Amino acid sequence: MSFLTLDHLQKSFGVTKVVHDFDLAIAKGEFVSFLGPSGCGKTTVLRMVAGFETPTAGRIVIDGQDVTRARPNQRQIGMVFQSYALFPNLTVAENVGFGLRVAGVARAERSGRVTQMLELIGLPDLGARYPWQLSGGQQQRVALARALAPRPRVLLLDEPLSALDAKIRVSLRNQIREIQQQLGITTIFVTHDQEEALSISDRIVVMHKGIADQTGTPAQIYNQPATEFVAGFVGTLNRFDAEVLDAARGLVRVEGAQIALDRPLPAGRIILAARPESLRIAPEGIPAEITGAEFLGSVQRLRARAAGQEVVLDRFNEPGTELPAPGAQVHLAAQQAGWLVLTA
Ligand code: ATP
Repeated sequence: MSFLTLDHLQKSFGVTKVVHDFDLAIAKGEFVSFLGPSGCGKTTVLRMVAGFETPTAGRIVIDGQDVTRARPNQRQIGMVFQSYALFPNLTVAENVGFGLRVAGVARAERSGRVTQMLELIGLPDLGARYPWQLSGGQQQRVALARALAPRPRVLLLDEPLSALDAKIRVSLRNQIREIQQQLGITTIFVTHDQEEALSISDRIVVMHKGIADQTGTPAQIYNQPATEFVAGFVGTLNRFDAEVLDAARGLVRVEGAQIALDRPLPAGRIILAARPESLRIAPEGIPAEITGAEFLGSVQRLRARAAGQEVVLDRFNEPGTELPAPGAQVHLAAQQAGWLVLTA
């Protein structure tokens, strides 16, 4: 059952179409990320859901109610932006209670709800402070509490972690996910950071030039990318030009080696790709020369040149595995399931 439906949404600014036929059904309580490079239309879709932009075509339905033309304040949506956007002249408690005051919630109930929200975000004692007395991460948590206090039906997060430093980003994203699950609130999270999207989402929509290239769980997006764009945008990828020798049996040739994929392929040329952790040094395979090796603690990252390409291999750092010397001649292989066949 879909709780939030985006039905063939389109948006043009003047003659420029920035969102093309965007379709998505989100279940109640689901956490969905929109992931894509700058300018792909993520924010525009989010702003249409919030009611700040009117779609050129298509419908937005929340819990069975068509809100396509409803005003933002009629949609029961909570939103958090990249910049904390707290009211500087209001205390933390007043910021959190702001939406409730606007909605006419009585003082006693308001104060109870504010206390509850401050506990939820782990800042029970900071209600009397002003935003300038808080760190960036704390301000963003207050912004989250302010968005959640009126009990919205949907929570929209537009790059809420981008302005924070790396360590805070990781702890805050985990906190956001915990709070989201605790409340069971349907959430859309916009990001251009693939690790962020992979780590906290139920599903990811990978966007590219105003369309959804692929929608799937983090594992589906990473392990079975539907397009070359998705494969390259999410995670590191090694690509090889390959000639299909036997389309029915899936036999291909990459410079210097034949590889049996054991799956039907299109005839002609394909792009054969593998993640760094799928490629390994093997007795047989694509001839390669090691060009560098880095020790990263839990993994060793090896660089090599193979079939005219720079490739990257990651392998677990097990005691006793030496780093290969630059210049070493090796062969590279992957298990059949580790080879991705990409179409443009
Ligand atoms: P970013 O991560 O940089 O915010 P995004 O994926 O969220 O990127 P959008 O902000 O949705 O992208 O913008 C999509 C395209 O629409 C961009 O090319 C942008 O310049 C254009 N655009 C957005 N808002 C307007 C507007 N009000 N008028 C004209 N063009 C706009």
